[in-house]
Amino acid sequence: MRPAVTFADRPPATADLVVIGGGIIGCATAFYAARAGLSVVVLERRAALGTLTTPASTGAFRLQFDNAEEIELVREGVELFDAFEERTGLGGWDIGLNHGGYLFCSLTDATLERSRRLVERQRQWGLTDVELLSGDEARSRWPWLSPDVRGARYRAGDGWLDVKRLTAGFAAAASAASGIPDATPGGGATFVTRAGVHAIRVESDRVTGIESSRGSVSSPAVVVAAGPFTAGVAALAGVHVEIRPTRRHKLVLPDLPLVPDNAPMTIEEETAAHWRPAMRGALALFTDPETPAGEPHDPVPIEHDWAFGLLDPGSDHALARVAPFWREAWNGGAPTVHWFLQAGQYEYTPDRRPYLGSIGPDGLHLNGGYSGHGIMAGTGGSRRVVDLLTGAAGAADNPLRPDRPIQAREHDIL
Ligand SMILES: Cc1cc2nc3c(=O)[nH]c(=O)nc-3n(C[C@H](O)[C@H](O)[C@H](O)COP(=O)(O)OP(=O)(O)OC[C@H]3O[C@@H](n4cnc5c(N)ncnc54)[C@H](O)[C@@H]3O)c2cc1C
Repeated sequence: MRPAVTFADRPPATADLVVIGGGIIGCATAFYAARAGLSVVVLERRAALGTLTTPASTGAFRLQFDNAEEIELVREGVELFDAFEERTGLGGWDIGLNHGGYLFCSLTDATLERSRRLVERQRQWGLTDVELLSGDEARSRWPWLSPDVRGARYRAGDGWLDVKRLTAGFAAAASAASGIPDATPGGGATFVTRAGVHAIRVESDRVTGIESSRGSVSSPAVVVAAGPFTAGVAALAGVHVEIRPTRRHKLVLPDLPLVPDNAPMTIEEETAAHWRPAMRGALALFTDPETPAGEPHDPVPIEHDWAFGLLDPGSDHALARVAPFWREAWNGGAPTVHWFLQAGQYEYTPDRRPYLGSIGPDGLHLNGGYSGHGIMAGTGGSRRVVDLLTGAAGAADNPLRPDRPIQAREHDIL
């Protein structure tokens, strides 16, 4: 029988753990907590799970990162994606996994040199399968690349998946926790939607539960997994967390035969404009570094003008700079025929790495601040948060604890 998510109209009166937020991070947390034998209730303010930031994402994952900690988190996630059915107990559950590769293309010597240095560091961190290619080597594999591409770095094991299936899979597996291989008996999750949490109860510096629009729950532990709303939710327990929600768009371009359906995720190193094949067309993005941070939004407003910056070949971050077929697509008028835009917010922390673990009153835990990498890093991050709260891992081994000293660092372009 097809596994189902356990929904309830009202939360149970008590639970071992309350998770606030039902995006990918809340559902992954529920999976690991249920596997560890905890009774879990997930409270989601919206009418359905996985409908705010999570579906706005590109669903992509890469080990090509600029620091060892995030490589480790993503590596753990990809190992689980590769064996999703076995590790969750959900036989036949397809998460749309595609190891289509990530290709970073340099148009200048400066970014080529930056790439070379990054690959050297990645090798020191044990990531040895990133290829450095000359422009001609890259064009021999992907003939549609521009003659202006001077070199590239490529990792075939990177790729993308279907985020809705991943989120629903974690929720279904958490609901039927007894089917998870190696699960500690007694665990399981209940999901309550249209349940906005407006209070976290704290007594004698200990969390004792929450209050929501669907009822209250007594619990000794709360995980805040509220995406761009994480700071506001943590403030309900009197805790200050720095998260800078920053709008990011995604352009969906279905049915564009000019897009090679076997192309990798293709990124321009200079601008970070990128695209990948999807829906017999492409998804295209550009993370403009000038976009100011702001308040969290639900829904996130969309600005159509943003899309022209990617598609108009005259733009300084046009997709056509790396892959000239985008010029033809524009000149033929094709991209604008069926396009649509989605927007979400990156949940930037000051060092662009997530907050994982306890902070403030006993029993309060953060699982957020993934800074645009929650699909790829959230699986490893959620396993870690659950291990910390059950005592299976010690706080001393956690470089991503929320109260770490924040070091300024040169950050990733995506
Ligand atoms: C355009 C774009 C592209 C991206 N591409 C990628 C990518 O390719 N790969 C990748 O790894 N990451 C990507 N990301 C980042 C990724 O989408 C996020 O890191 C991830 O979805 C965060 O998941 P979440 O569950 O924390 O947040 P959300 O999906 O936002 O879920 C949080 C939930 O908490 C709920 N909530 C908030 N407050 C309350 C409350 N008081 N009570 C109850 N519920 C509450 C919200 O309604 C929401 O459903 C992208 C993001 C964007 C915007």
